Amino acid sequence: HVWHPYAPVEGAMPPYPVQHAQGVHLTLEDGRDLIDGMSSWWSVIHGYNHPVLNNAAKEQLDKMSHVMFGGLTHRPAAELAARLVKLTPEPLQRVFLCDSGSVSVEVAIKMAIQYWHAKGQPGKQRMLTIRRGYHGDTCGAMAVCDPETGMHHLFTDVLSKHFFADAPTVVNDADWQDDDIAGFRELLETHHEQIAAVILEPLVQGAGGMRFYAPEYLRQVRTLCDTHKVLFIAAEIATGFGRTGTMFACEQANISPDIMCLGKAITGGYLTLAAVLTTEEISRTISTNAPNAFMHGPTFMANPLACAVANASIDLLLDSPWQERIAAMSNAFAQHLLPCQSWDGIAEVRIKGGIGVLELEQPVNMAAITKRFVDKGVWIRPFGKLVYVMPPYIISDEELNQLLTAMTAAVAEELDL
Ligand SMILES: *Cc1c(COP(=O)(O)O)cnc(C)c1O
Repeated sequence: HVWHPYAPVEGAMPPYPVQHAQGVHLTLEDGRDLIDGMSSWWSVIHGYNHPVLNNAAKEQLDKMSHVMFGGLTHRPAAELAARLVKLTPEPLQRVFLCDSGSVSVEVAIKMAIQYWHAKGQPGKQRMLTIRRGYHGDTCGAMAVCDPETGMHHLFTDVLSKHFFADAPTVVNDADWQDDDIAGFRELLETHHEQIAAVILEPLVQGAGGMRFYAPEYLRQVRTLCDTHKVLFIAAEIATGFGRTGTMFACEQANISPDIMCLGKAITGGYLTLAAVLTTEEISRTISTNAPNAFMHGPTFMANPLACAVANASIDLLLDSPWQERIAAMSNAFAQHLLPCQSWDGIAEVRIKGGIGVLELEQPVNMAAITKRFVDKGVWIRPFGKLVYVMPPYIISDEELNQLLTAMTAAVAEELDL
């Protein structure tokens, strides 16, 4: 009866049933053990079944698993907001907690529009973004996803029309060329009176193609946004909590957004939760102008169970040598993946922090390559031409070695090498 994501009801590839998971290991119902290379879509940074996170959930469960957030409040949420404000760039002072990454994008877009409405500029309702982005699967979020990979043609009449600049191509500041941002600048100069905000995944375009770009691009976006009175939304849902080597990707460009979306790793992969952070000025402007409230409020907003686990997860991260682990991953990726650069059928190898990507010249045969991975004892889920890993931070050198050896061997078989 179950329908799986981005899949037909009965596909060529039945999903593998997981019986339990521990550390970086997934144990299938038939007893096979897989090393997890995906962190369950960026989220399980501390590994599965972590005693500290389990305990945080159990303790909170005995107090209350949920209470409505309208008119009531609770410590887990207040403590989480304080932690997030401390962790993120200084201008971000207010936290709106919501259910998922996609919803955080909806919230961020509404916040930007409501801000300009409050400032007497209701004409600023559109977004400017870059192609190849991924911002989630709800309609507001989809409208800023890449128009092709986001399937805009299927939903033409329900998706809002926004502005799309070409995706950045320069990867390192040393190779910076002004050309890379010329199209973006032109769109902003021409349409800024209609544009409420720029929304971008900083440095790493995730599910839209696993592409990386230069910090200089972000610095220029920040300056252009200031010049043209447009807000800057940094969607750090995938990049947040250390994955790119800094706590947040924005830090590598030394910039602070006006609005930041966080999700995925926020609870260490235990429960669905997201956060939208903004400045005192934006939150006050919305609050002091009609309708004197931010018009959003999900039923499970600030779920105490999720907040309690998020607090424990953030403490665990701060107490761990996460930078060393990310650096160890980068080194292992360089050692195992860079040699694939010369293989026939490999278009590009990309490494950033705890993200390792092999881009093939042709799309993989999903069913065949997934079986190869499982047979070799690893869990890697490619999409299209991309075979990539972003393992839990706690993965050991030995497990990393096993994961990457299996990854390259399966890709070599797929390419008939
Ligand atoms: C995963 C992701 C989302 C969507 O988050 P969900 O929790 O799946 O709704 C949005 N933006 C980015 C950058 C993501 O990586």
